[in-house]
Amino acid sequence: MDVAEFRRRGKEMVDYVADYLEKIEERPVYPDLEPGYLRQLIPTEAPLEPEGFDEIMQDVERVIMPGVTHWHSPRFFAYFPAASSFPAMLADVLCSAIGCIGFSWAASPACTELETVMLDWLGKMLQLPDCFIAGTQGRGGGVIQSTASEATLMSLLAARCKAVRLIQAGDADRSEADILSKLVAYTSEQAHSSVERAALIGAVLMRKVPTDHCYAVRQETLKRMVEEDKAAGLIPFYFCATLGTTPSCAFDRITELGPLCNKENMWMHIDAAYAGSAFICPEFRPLLNGVEFADSFNFNPHKWLLVNFDCSAMWVRERADIIGAFKMEPLYLKHENQESGLVTDYRHWQIPLGRRFRSLKMWFVFRMYGLKGMQAHIRKQVSLAKEFESLVRADKRFEICAEVVMGLVCFRLKGSNELNQSLLKKITKSREIHLVPCQLSSRFVLRLAICSRSTESRHIQHAWRHITQLAFELLQEQPH
Ligand SMILES: *Cc1c(COP(=O)(O)O)cnc(C)c1O
Repeated sequence: MDVAEFRRRGKEMVDYVADYLEKIEERPVYPDLEPGYLRQLIPTEAPLEPEGFDEIMQDVERVIMPGVTHWHSPRFFAYFPAASSFPAMLADVLCSAIGCIGFSWAASPACTELETVMLDWLGKMLQLPDCFIAGTQGRGGGVIQSTASEATLMSLLAARCKAVRLIQAGDADRSEADILSKLVAYTSEQAHSSVERAALIGAVLMRKVPTDHCYAVRQETLKRMVEEDKAAGLIPFYFCATLGTTPSCAFDRITELGPLCNKENMWMHIDAAYAGSAFICPEFRPLLNGVEFADSFNFNPHKWLLVNFDCSAMWVRERADIIGAFKMEPLYLKHENQESGLVTDYRHWQIPLGRRFRSLKMWFVFRMYGLKGMQAHIRKQVSLAKEFESLVRADKRFEICAEVVMGLVCFRLKGSNELNQSLLKKITKSREIHLVPCQLSSRFVLRLAICSRSTESRHIQHAWRHITQLAFELLQEQPH
């Protein structure tokens, strides 16, 4: 493909993408296929001779689209949203064109500097405490990680390193191996599985903290566990709080937990992967109170803030903690500028060396929506969730299973888990809408999350009509 063909095909691709998104609702939201479907549709070897672009695009419809779960369909209500917007998609094209690998300031100064400034912009939109803002002199600052899972892992590894150093500073004879074997981390029993995985990868013990009737971790519960563990000779060093849990969007009580973590010298990381985006709205910002006690904070603009995957925003109070834990400096990566708010070598903040120019997506989105446009997006999606909630509440056969705070509604048919499992099976099989379940207090619960940017009231009304129709059929089939 030469540059002339690229110009032509590029414009065709934009048209294809626009058509795809404009008419996405006409496609079944969830594919109807057996595993292994794709292998039968394409050759077993890569082609020897070059093929044409038209042939490939024909195969996109023949091979790919039938096997796509359409996350941006307004009939998709599963998991949590995957953010998407046109400005972000266009910025991604530019990112591919520049194609730099921004591991150090010198490797592409714009890539590093825009990221630092975008994380400051975003941190200010969230009204994060000053200690997290890089500015020009700051000791803290932000970084884009690929995913919340990596942000959690980074925070846990930094905390582990800090704990070992702190203990060795007071007791130089104590071996690292001995300390590591005594470290204990904590997180909610409702935390995302990636938190437990971080502890597995970081090779430390992690204990699950039971939650209250709202599925939130309370200070008394954590305090009791920390005291028990200290009495048993263990070293509590890390707590990962969740703001907006994956099953039910519950909020750990960080205003009470933060002071406890600070007093016990435990690193507090906050995982707000989904809910964090809503904190740009003043009415949701109180849920972030207590962040001033945190050592690190993370949320995913790629979930709910219109920036396409991947873009997970992480802030640390002390950049030295995170850099100190992982610094490696071979000669070929050295340059004469010193690490500060002005010069950052982001390779020290993450696991891979290479990194894309992801801050371009933020810059385009923040400027083309403005804070007001992004707030309007959040508010609209929350109001759609409230609309669905009121439909559920008006139907005596159903119940709401957790407070609806943001864009997630947890609900079920009053009755057995088996009944609700059958209802979800019918929903999945019909392919009209797509939902996933969760478990709350050993009950099987359906989760409806407002996901697509193009979801409107009519889609909520349609989803509810569809669910009640299937529920009606199911209840008819039940033996009385
Ligand atoms: C979605 C989610 C994650 C995982 O996010 P990734 O960016 O895919 O790693 C982690 N924690 C919570 C609370 C989530 O909702």
